[in-house]
Amino acid sequence: MLEDKYGRKFHYLRLSVTDVCNFSCNYCLPDGYQCDTQRDFLTLDEIRTTATAFAGLGTSKIRITGGEPSLRKDLTDIIEICASIRGIEHVAMTSNGYQLEKDAERWVDAGLTSLNISIDSLDPRMFEVITGHDRLQSILRGVEKAIALGLKVKVNVVLMKQYNLATLQTFMDWVRNTPVTLRFIELMQTGDNLNFFTQNHVSGEALKKHVIERGWGKVISDKTAGPAHEFQHPGYAGRLGFITPYSKNFCDTCNRLRISARGKLHLCLFAEYGLDVRSYMQIGDIQGLQTRLRSLLEDKDATHYLHEGYAGATTHLAMLGG
Ligand code: SAM
Ligand code: SF4
Repeated sequence: MLEDKYGRKFHYLRLSVTDVCNFSCNYCLPDGYQCDTQRDFLTLDEIRTTATAFAGLGTSKIRITGGEPSLRKDLTDIIEICASIRGIEHVAMTSNGYQLEKDAERWVDAGLTSLNISIDSLDPRMFEVITGHDRLQSILRGVEKAIALGLKVKVNVVLMKQYNLATLQTFMDWVRNTPVTLRFIELMQTGDNLNFFTQNHVSGEALKKHVIERGWGKVISDKTAGPAHEFQHPGYAGRLGFITPYSKNFCDTCNRLRISARGKLHLCLFAEYGLDVRSYMQIGDIQGLQTRLRSLLEDKDATHYLHEGYAGATTHLAMLGG
C-alpha cells in the first residue's frame, strides 16, 4: 500500500489523459485551450503500465480526467484497460458532459462505474456565459441517460459569487427528484485566475450551515471517497456535497495521487512541479515505476499552501484534471 510519512494511504489515482478542452470555463480556461506544446499524451500501453503499477501498490480506484477526457478518440479503450486490471474496483471519470448523451452507453459497456459531470448553472444562458457553450439541455439529457444506465452520477458546481451563488435553491430543487450527488466546489486560485478568484471566491461553509439548518444530515463516507462532505435528506432523491479546500484540515484525509497527461506524478494538485516518471511507462517497467513512486511519495507535503495564496505550478486545473 502506498503510504506517506503522515500515515495517509493512497487508494485513489487521478489519471489525466489529455489537457485539451473544448470548453472555455471562465474560472479555468477563459480564453479556451491554447495549444502551445506537443500533444504527446500517454499512450494506451503507458496507461496500462501505470494502472497496473498503481493497482499493485493498493490503488483500487482510478478517475480518468483531463482537460476533457471525452475528446480522446480512444477513451473507450482507456476505460476498458483500467477496468480490466486486477485490483481496480472503480473506474470513474470527470467530464464536461459534451459527449455524454451520445457515448454514455459505450462507456458503461467498457466498464465505467461512476461519472462526475460539471454543470455550473441550470440556466441555459448562464451555462453558456460560464462555459462558452449552449449545451446544457443535451448534458442534462446525458445525465438522465447515465442514471438510467446504472452509473453513479455526481454533478460538480464551482461556486462563483457573481455567476451562480444566488441560484442555490434551483440546484436544491433539482436534486429533490434527481438521484445525483450535487457537490459545490469552492473556487480555487490558480496561476491564471487571480482576479477572477478575488472577485468570485466564496466559502462553502456558510452554504453547508444553510443546508444543515434545513434538515440535511451528514453521510458517513468510505475510504475511496473524495474530500466532499456529503448530506442527505429524506425528502430528496439526490444528495448535496461540499468541497472546501480552504477549510482547516482539508489535506489530512488526502487519499489520491495524480498523473498528468504527459506522465508526471503530482503529489498534490498544487505541487510546485510534476515529477517525471514517464520513462518507466514508456518501456513498460511496472516494478521500476512502483519503486520510483514509493520513493517520490516520501516528499509529499502535509498540506497545500493555497491559504497563503500559493498555487504551485498549477496555472489552471485543465492541465491536471482537478
Ligand atoms: N473537463 C472536465 C470537467 O470540467 O469536468 C474535467 C477536468 S476539470 C479541470 C475537473 C473539475 O475541476 C471540474 O469539475 C471543474 O469544474 C473543476 N475546476 C476547474 N478549475 C477549478 C477551479 N479554479 N476551482 C475549483 N474547481 C475547478
Ligand atoms: Fe474544460 Fe473542465 Fe476546465 Fe471547463 S473546467 S474549461 S470543461 S477542463
